[in-house]
Amino acid sequence: MQYNFIANISQVSSSGLTLAVVDPSDGQVFDQIQRSNAADIDAAVRAARQCLDTAWRQLDAVERGRLLMRLSVKISASVEELAAIEQRDCGKPTRQARADAVALARYFEFYAGACDKLHGDTLPYLEGYSVLTWREPHGITGHVIPWNYPMQIFGRSVGGALAAGNVCVVKPAEDASLIRVAQMAAEVGFPTGAINIVTGYGHEVGDALARHPGIDHISFTGSPSVGTLIQQAAAERHCPVTLELGGKSPQIVFADADLDAAVPAIINGIVQNAGQTCSAGSRLLVDQAIYEPLLERLGAAFEALRVGPASSDLDLGPLIRQSQQQRVWDFLSDAHAGNIPMVAQGSVVEEAPQSGFYQAPTLLRDVPVNHRLAQEEVFGPVLCAMPFQGEDQAVALANATQFGLVAGVWTADGARQFRMARRIRSGQVFINNYGAGGGVELPFGGVKSSGYGREKGFEALLGFTTLKTVAFRHGS
Ligand code: NAD
Repeated sequence: MQYNFIANISQVSSSGLTLAVVDPSDGQVFDQIQRSNAADIDAAVRAARQCLDTAWRQLDAVERGRLLMRLSVKISASVEELAAIEQRDCGKPTRQARADAVALARYFEFYAGACDKLHGDTLPYLEGYSVLTWREPHGITGHVIPWNYPMQIFGRSVGGALAAGNVCVVKPAEDASLIRVAQMAAEVGFPTGAINIVTGYGHEVGDALARHPGIDHISFTGSPSVGTLIQQAAAERHCPVTLELGGKSPQIVFADADLDAAVPAIINGIVQNAGQTCSAGSRLLVDQAIYEPLLERLGAAFEALRVGPASSDLDLGPLIRQSQQQRVWDFLSDAHAGNIPMVAQGSVVEEAPQSGFYQAPTLLRDVPVNHRLAQEEVFGPVLCAMPFQGEDQAVALANATQFGLVAGVWTADGARQFRMARRIRSGQVFINNYGAGGGVELPFGGVKSSGYGREKGFEALLGFTTLKTVAFRHGS
């Protein structure tokens, strides 16, 4: 049984109810989490407020940094333990689960070092005045986290918020909770109430978090539709929000691209985490001149991809849950009904239990730009290819969705690299790479329906603070 973690204590929900936790690799229930309610959120907010007004306020930025660093060290020493939890919760192949735990440690390391480097400015003003700006924490930040990268998103969101001097109330996804990390924080000396975890359904406890008057800022990562609900709830009380929503990110390959570099990155960009990645490169835009040979090469690579239980550590694990599997099947049957050709498909290994939520990676071609496969997030391992002729058409196709999260551009032409980077509407453009190395240090976020505000990197700290202008009149 898993419990809420409020005021550094494991607590049952006042609802008396629990939710089953299912292993996506075999579809079997292996644990229970608390099905919390508004009263539990209220208890977490009270614990956070108490911490903010006492122990946390007394901690200077250097000490706060040291505390975050201790948590980073603890996480680094516990990579196997955390990876095992995440693997079972989310169905991540072993290497991916380990990489996510390493990234979590790295976020706390990065933000540990940033705590005492966040400062304001002095501004020129009228004669006889001195004006300063102070970066102050919002107070209590609320974090609503999805199931696809629970540890990484906890690291970037909670790590940044703590570094900026906030205390946190976290609502993890139903399918993947984060209680162990909060326990570790308590073990390394985080004061009571600095990090509180409350689990349960989004429409119950997530909604209660978004509405609670004691929450001073909300960081939400998830779907655009829930992002709208969060904004509506926050708007009622003018609470600031950072939104990291989905994407339909293009990989744009010109005829002069280094395909030896591009092909593995294109494949990894859609199969990582079984395609359940907000920044998945799910649209492949290819210069007409190399469309056929590139599809042939990718097709052979797709056919070699294998899907199986997380512990088998193959190219892909299962999808998170049956409804997600059904969602991918619905997209693929739409493709079939619309006569969209399938180039190739990987395979699910025989030992994968029938009760698991598996989906073979699929490469489709000639997907019409207005088809829902080219417009909506599948959130599964489905890559949609389409040809283009010339830079203008490449840009038009790249920008032809409601999203604007990431774009990959593959070309050897330096001037074109700059032109493309300028003309694509998205939060990130990767030239001749696709997000290598995790990018803890790099600001990340979207435009259009992909959200607003930035997390990751130093930039995130600005969003987790409010700027106070202080003007002194002292005479000449
Ligand atoms: P989701 O929006 O259904 O859920 C995200 C979180 O919101 C969960 O914790 C859920 O419990 C909670 N929630 C659900 N309804 C709520 C409500 N009414 N009020 C408050 N909270 C509520 O999304 P998901 O299925 O967990 O994740 C997949 C989606 O998230 C995809 O669209 C994906 O692209 C996006 N995503 C984006 C990023 C990014 O950085 N841009 C990262 C990961 C996932």
